[in-house]
Amino acid sequence: MPLEDLNQQIKNCRKCSLWQNANNAVVGEGPANAEIMLVGQNPGAEEDKTGRPFIGRAGKFLNKVLAENSIAREKVFITNTVKHLTPQNRKPSPDEVAACVPYLVEQVKLVKPKIVVLMGAVAWQAPRVEGVEYLETVHPSAAMRFTKMRKRFQEDFKTLRNRIEILQKK
Ligand code: SF4
Repeated sequence: MPLEDLNQQIKNCRKCSLWQNANNAVVGEGPANAEIMLVGQNPGAEEDKTGRPFIGRAGKFLNKVLAENSIAREKVFITNTVKHLTPQNRKPSPDEVAACVPYLVEQVKLVKPKIVVLMGAVAWQAPRVEGVEYLETVHPSAAMRFTKMRKRFQEDFKTLRNRIEILQKK
């Protein structure tokens, strides 16, 4: 199935109740053959308004860390574990994650990135696709707020930079 068809399925999805309070499904964006996929938790208010992932404060912080590691954001596929906004930006429930995470698995199978970065504990729950390398880090919102998490996030993105260089040579 092409990525556009999957995007359409996500936009029409009614598998949990989150679509009811959302303006847009945030399916994700980036090249259909991206080597790196970044996965967050769920869209926030600004993402819901525009339908684009990571464009608020956390997105700006993410852009900065990507730039520090010479990773071009436009070459990365960025998405979330849960594709619709949650009320008051609360953590998605286990049922909501279970309903939505198959879309992420499909995205990984279609894009076939060399490495997927799971950002935050909700994303860590994603089932792994064979043949794809996974890296777990904290969510950019937490990295922005807490020094210890920021250090870990920055270190993990250095690891990402190093791993992708190695994987590109394979
Ligand atoms: S959050 Fe996911 S499972 Fe729930 S309605 Fe939206 S796309 Fe469907």
